[in-house]
Amino acid sequence: MKLTFVVPCYNEEKNIKLFYEDVLKNFKDSKYEIELIFINDGSKDGTLDELKKLTNKKDFKIMVINFSRNFGKEAGIYAGLEYSTGDFIVLIDADMQQPPSLVLNMLQAIEKDSDIDIVAYYQEKRIEGKILTFFKSKFYKLMNKITDVPFVNGASDFRLFKKSVKDTILKMSEHDRFSKGIFAYIGFNTHYIPYTPSKRANGKTSWSFKKLFIYALSGILSFSKTPIRIISKLGILNIFISIIWMLVLLILNLFDSIWFICSFILFVSGINFFLEGILGEYIYRSYKENRARPIYIAKEVITNEKDS
Ligand code: UDP
Ligand code: MG
Repeated sequence: MKLTFVVPCYNEEKNIKLFYEDVLKNFKDSKYEIELIFINDGSKDGTLDELKKLTNKKDFKIMVINFSRNFGKEAGIYAGLEYSTGDFIVLIDADMQQPPSLVLNMLQAIEKDSDIDIVAYYQEKRIEGKILTFFKSKFYKLMNKITDVPFVNGASDFRLFKKSVKDTILKMSEHDRFSKGIFAYIGFNTHYIPYTPSKRANGKTSWSFKKLFIYALSGILSFSKTPIRIISKLGILNIFISIIWMLVLLILNLFDSIWFICSFILFVSGINFFLEGILGEYIYRSYKENRARPIYIAKEVITNEKDS
């Protein structure tokens, strides 16, 4: 059995060696054949040099995918998955927030029950500040409300899964990638284990509040059509209010007043919003097709035919 580590790295020069040594400590004598795939995501520090040094080591199979510029963690994960050859694949950060030793628990869980396809750690307690924790939990609530797929609060990208799951993720070749949404979308049996992430070993997070906000917005736009529905719903509300308003003015015999013109403007804008909403539906449908997501995902196909 082969296990692939997919490790996206952006400005992690001080963590690469630590990470490698930790993997070595925990997996040197493991029964798994280990493959380490590092993605240098356009780092501006000495990350690439550190990674190149690792390629002289003989303990495991090591691959370094060096991006031409910074494409973001999501693109790094995708590239890593494309090159991975393991029966199991684990997504893990290079900054030691997700200790490699925990991968042993994931393997144990997935090996114990053959029905489990994915093992995911979720943060029982967030170690970020109160404000960020508040916004993140609100975001998950909102996502669960406005999308058809279930989002687990605190679930991270720290996941181990079978090759069949990897093949499915690779079929979702959209450019605006939102892993949490993709995992929620593809289904499969997921086993969740609670954990508290460690502190970053060195360096600092590359996620500013602004970047997180844009990422969250991209998640909403990729997995929900609620924003479009809001437009047409607003249109219907406008039409409804304006008709009642006009009727009241008619009853009060005030239809030649300025208020009647106002209610008429509301009526027309309502129709406008409604039509824009319809236009939005068409654009969303075309966007959905463009994304070329699989129409269905079959976990397995069972027949009564014997393998030849
Ligand atoms: N990362 C990356 N490209 C980026 C930003 C981050 O490959 O543009 C990597 C980073 O090196 C780390 C992981 O993604 O291994 C998580 O990033 P970070 O620690 O900054 O995020 P946080 O843990 O704060 O969510
Ligand atoms: Mg981190």
